[in-house]
Amino acid sequence: MQVLERTPTLQTKLPAVGTTIFTVMSQLAAEKGAVNLGQGFPDFACDPALVNAVTSAMQSGHNQYPPMTGVPALRNAVATKIEALHARKYSADTEITITAGATQAIITAILAVVRTGDEVIVLEPCYDSYVPNIELAGGTVVRVPLTPKTFRPDFEKISAAITPKTRAILINSPHNPSATIWSEAEMLQLQDILAPTEILLISDEVYEHMVFDGQQHQSATRFAGLAARAFIVSSFGKTYHVTGWKVGYVAAPASLTAEFRKVHQFNVFTVNTPVQHALAAYMASPAPYQELPAFYQRKRDLFLSGIQKTRLKPLHTQGSYFQCVDISAISDLNEADFCKWLTTEIGVAAIPLSAFYGNGFDQRVVRFCFAKKDETLLLALERLAKL
Ligand code: PMP
Ligand code: GLN
Repeated sequence: MQVLERTPTLQTKLPAVGTTIFTVMSQLAAEKGAVNLGQGFPDFACDPALVNAVTSAMQSGHNQYPPMTGVPALRNAVATKIEALHARKYSADTEITITAGATQAIITAILAVVRTGDEVIVLEPCYDSYVPNIELAGGTVVRVPLTPKTFRPDFEKISAAITPKTRAILINSPHNPSATIWSEAEMLQLQDILAPTEILLISDEVYEHMVFDGQQHQSATRFAGLAARAFIVSSFGKTYHVTGWKVGYVAAPASLTAEFRKVHQFNVFTVNTPVQHALAAYMASPAPYQELPAFYQRKRDLFLSGIQKTRLKPLHTQGSYFQCVDISAISDLNEADFCKWLTTEIGVAAIPLSAFYGNGFDQRVVRFCFAKKDETLLLALERLAKL
């Protein structure tokens, strides 16, 4: 019998996917000794109390599988928080699920509801996992652009994209990468458009606690007609400065949660036990997330005041920890080449917005992350002052 001694050939399921721009830019920044304002993550420590809470959860013996749906105390804490902030009651038992970060929450929601041939609307620019997630589920991606430069949703275009095959729409506010937030009027408009349909909503709200200038995060949970059809996704990584812990949650009506959990249990089954106990204990106080807007608004303003002294033209950051800038007064390079040049020659890494579009649309805008120590931001600004 002849034995096959080579690796079987494989037809890729994701032909358009390479290494993510975040990894590429972080590697280049490290190689060139650049200040990394590219990939979105804090370079400062989380609250030591949170680390101590994990240690004590481990020492108390919380080291085996937790319930598939998440530790009850954490699901209760999430339900209590959503009710306090948005006046909507979710059942901790049947409507909240703890996930391995928002990334797993989003792919699990998509795998749970999207069938072969279903259409799913994404609003570009969008976070880079959405499109491959839809493709892995056998869905067809329908890309609707947000208005270039202002990034406002274009409801005529959204309505025009809806067909009888539309299964779901993904939205994200506060928005990565543009740092805009959806207004109440925009959420109401979306609610009206979806009202006569069976379309599901996946609302990526990972930056929910980073909203500035006294504005309110317009969670989909605040709108009855949206909440009834929505998977609300959030991430403790963003809120508590622990992106590496990869713990998040999904809130959704019981019938949607039941389907979500069918996939979740064979996707990860359960999520890190001691971290869940620690987060539950830490959430007893709302202070950390209540203080977050002021904490990040100060960093936004510090970074912005330096950017305003350069020829980079800042866009308005309403939420998230990103600052976008227009590069057209400085360079003729496209966004991706400009980011490589900036990293290599100026010593500051940024992310091209074109990476968030399927067709690489280039509007001469790049994204900086200001979730950094003041000293990191000041060093970056010192280098950017050359521009
Ligand atoms: N959605 C958006 C818009 C994000 O910016 C991120 C952060 N990378 C995620 C989802 C994923 O979050 P997590 O790290 O919790 O998986
Ligand atoms: N959310 C972060 C960003 O947009 C990091 C994402 C990642 O590294 N996958 O930069």
